[in-house]
Amino acid sequence: MAVAGEPSFRESVDLMFNRAVALMDLSPGLEQKIRVCNSTYTVRFGVRLRGKIETFVGYRSVHSEHMEPVKGGIRYAMSVNQDEVEALAALMTYKCALVETPFGGSKGGLCIDPRAWEPHELEQITRRFAYELIKRDLINPAQNVPAPDMGTGEREMAWIADQYARMNTTDINAKACVTGKPPHAGGIQGRVEATGRGVQYALREFFRYPEDVAKAHLTGDLDGKRVVVQGLGNVGYHAAKFISEEDGAKIIAIIERDGALHNEDGLHVETVKQWIAKHGTIKGYPDANFVDDGAKLLELDCDILIPAAMEGVIHMGNAAQIKAPLIIEAANGPITFGADEILRQKGTVIIPDMYANAGGVTVSYFEWVKNLSHIRFGRMQRRAEEARHILLVDELERLAADKGLDWTLSPGFKEQYLKGAGELELVRSGLDDTMRGAYQAMRAIWHGRDDVEDLRVAAYIVSISRVAATYVSKGL
Ligand code: GLU
Repeated sequence: MAVAGEPSFRESVDLMFNRAVALMDLSPGLEQKIRVCNSTYTVRFGVRLRGKIETFVGYRSVHSEHMEPVKGGIRYAMSVNQDEVEALAALMTYKCALVETPFGGSKGGLCIDPRAWEPHELEQITRRFAYELIKRDLINPAQNVPAPDMGTGEREMAWIADQYARMNTTDINAKACVTGKPPHAGGIQGRVEATGRGVQYALREFFRYPEDVAKAHLTGDLDGKRVVVQGLGNVGYHAAKFISEEDGAKIIAIIERDGALHNEDGLHVETVKQWIAKHGTIKGYPDANFVDDGAKLLELDCDILIPAAMEGVIHMGNAAQIKAPLIIEAANGPITFGADEILRQKGTVIIPDMYANAGGVTVSYFEWVKNLSHIRFGRMQRRAEEARHILLVDELERLAADKGLDWTLSPGFKEQYLKGAGELELVRSGLDDTMRGAYQAMRAIWHGRDDVEDLRVAAYIVSISRVAATYVSKGL
């Protein structure tokens, strides 16, 4: 957690915003309009559980409605509070603008320890929270579309979707009221892995530019890079798994809430994940050194640090000790404003949250579009695409035979080439394209302007200009 005297999460986001707008030419009125959070709804509701009435406190904050619906996850954690929800909603506005998903920014949260309740109790609580939000149009396919976040997942989204459908029996677009649903309940392939996959695509894109890599005093690509991951939840797990299994990165440390594992030869992410699932703790894992004070390993010598858990884990108290030359913010707000200043002075390259973890909302966008179009991606084209590929391969083979050429296609080529893209391939392709495009927009500002020294300021400038353009064209 941030050290005493540091600004709150919400203030930290505003300070980062201010640093960017100082370099822009917006009218002070418009600047203020974009900065402020439009509204935050607080609800306190009771649910009868285990023979008594339990009261829960929940929030849904709408930061900006320059585009609707507004979008952002719902978090279940004891630490949820209004300041946090508002900071996260603001980040959603900037994130959506950066990756060009046509949404405003929103976020929700419920003060609850999800592990303290049985699934049927969580269902009762979730349905009641959803009911409170739905009746105020704070969940609605055209106005406000939640998604998973810390402590929630497919299961909660399915309950929310069902609750909405029960309350809006004639809404043909009911399924589009929430994203991150299981595939059998209107979800989309690749949504669960999406944020981690987006982190992988972001890193791959960064390593495509040797000048950018050199700014972090690194060379080459992801292969062999020594990586520290903080948090093996949905985002950290998928990011670490993909970059180690597919790009050759070496995960030398995994930090969890109850300690950390360290092994310079590399940790096998899947095996660690299974260990945690089986034992409920990272402790006792055989193939690594266990470190009690896990947060200490944020300071480990490594090439890439991936904070993928909570906000504020890199703060003014530990920023100076961080050795990683490259940090990719898989979580929202893991670096406080004060820590960001210290790291910038040191020359650390930071790939900022609003870009790095935008894979989730990007695939949420695909899911929402799928729900509104009532058809799975690829359903109409797949076999037509295959048929055209078959035509081409058949023709090449006929020509080769006609000319008596000793000509064969490489093994596996035919199967791979002929296969038309299914939903998962299309989702990954759309995500990859989005992550590349957004990085290029940021780096154009980073390299194109003398007064912009880092990717975070560049990201804010890209996002704020887009939000501002929407407001201006609306006549504000
Ligand atoms: N909770 C995720 C985030 O912070 C996903 C939001 C969404 O898909 O709407 O970006």
